[in-house]
Amino acid sequence: MSFRYCTKCVMPNTKPDLSFDEEGVCDACRSAEMKGTIDWEARETEFRELVSRFKNKSGGNYDCVIPISGGKDSHYQAYMARKYGLNPLMVNFEATLRNELGRKNLENIRQFGDLLEFKKNPEIYKKMCLYAFKQVGDHEWPNHIGIFTFSVRVAVQFRIPLVLWGENSQLEYGGPKAARMKNVLDRRWLEEFGGLLGLRVEDMIGVEGITKEDLVSYFYPSDKELEEAGLFGAFLGYYFKWDARQQVQLMQKYGFSVKEDGPVEGTYTNYENLDDAIVAVHDYLKFVKFGFGRATDHACLDVRNGRITRDEAVKLVTEYDGKWPKVAISEFLEFFNMTPEEFDTIVDSFTDKMLFEVNSDGSLQRAPDHSLVKKYGDYSLEAQR
Ligand SMILES: [Zn+2]
Repeated sequence: MSFRYCTKCVMPNTKPDLSFDEEGVCDACRSAEMKGTIDWEARETEFRELVSRFKNKSGGNYDCVIPISGGKDSHYQAYMARKYGLNPLMVNFEATLRNELGRKNLENIRQFGDLLEFKKNPEIYKKMCLYAFKQVGDHEWPNHIGIFTFSVRVAVQFRIPLVLWGENSQLEYGGPKAARMKNVLDRRWLEEFGGLLGLRVEDMIGVEGITKEDLVSYFYPSDKELEEAGLFGAFLGYYFKWDARQQVQLMQKYGFSVKEDGPVEGTYTNYENLDDAIVAVHDYLKFVKFGFGRATDHACLDVRNGRITRDEAVKLVTEYDGKWPKVAISEFLEFFNMTPEEFDTIVDSFTDKMLFEVNSDGSLQRAPDHSLVKKYGDYSLEAQR
C-alpha cells in the first residue's frame, strides 16, 4: 500500500478501517456529503419515537443512562436528553489523571440531572495502564474499557434499558460502511471499534497480581443479562446532525468551559479532551503508529463541515500535528514513575519506521524539540496522483 492523503481532507490512508474511492476521497468525507442528504426531520421523529418507547411512564426510574466524561459531547447528550423529555442518569468513569477543568465541567453537567461517579482503585488501574502502554501502546486502554462497560453495567443493574451514546465515530471519522450506517452500540461494536487493540480484560488477570475480583467493573455484562434488561444503546449522532463546533457554542451558554489559555497540546482547538492531564500522550501514540494526530482529526472535521479549505488544513496540520507533547509527557512520567529513556524505548517500539525519517544506524531522527520527522509531508494534490 502506498502512502497517500485524501484529496478532500488531509487524512492519510494509514488510518485503520478507512477506505478511499477511485477519486482518492476517504469514506469519512463521503459520509459527510451523505449527511447533507439525510432527512434530519424524519430522524428527529424517529428520536421522539425512541423517547416515547423508553420513557419510564411511572416516573419510578431513570429513562436512560448517559455515559459521560464531562466534556462537550457529554454536555450535549445530557442537554438533548432533557430537551426531549428524558430523565437521564449520567455515569462517569473517572479519567486517568483528571485536571481542574475536567472537574469543573463535570460539576457543571449536573444541571441536567443526577450523576453517578465511578472512582477506580488507583493502584489496580495504574497497573492496567502500564501493562496496556507496554503491550499495545495505549495507556488509556482501561479507560476506554471502563467508559463502555461500566455504563452498560449500571444500565443493566439499575434496569434502565436505554443507553444514549454520542456521535457514531465511524460516521464522523470514517470506517466500514455497515458501521457507519449503524444506530446502535453493542458488544460487537465495542469489540471492533472500541479501541481495545486486541487486548481483552481477561488478559489483565495475573498482571502484577491483579485478580478477577479486581476487574469486576471492567467486564461487559453477559448476553443473557443484556437481553433480560432489554438493553438498547443508541447513537445520538444517528438522530441529529453532529457538528462539534456548533454544539460547543451552544453548551458554553450552559456553562461548559473550554481551555482559555490556548489550544490543547497536539492540536489547534481548545474544546476537546480537556479533562485529562495526560490524554495528549494517547494522541501522540496514535501519531507514531499511523502518522497522524489529533490536529489531523480536527482539521478534517473542519474541512468536511466547510469551515476551512484543504490548504488551510494543511497549514494547521503542519504546524500542530504530532508535536512532542512535553507538558503531558512530564505529567505522565511523574504519574507512572517512569524515566524519559524508558518512555522513549516503549514509544519507539510502537513507532512505524516506514512513516518517519531514520538515521543510518536505524534510530529515529528527531527535531530539536524531540518531535519525529515525518517522511510524507507533501499534502499537495499532485503528490496524491
Ligand atoms: Zn477525506
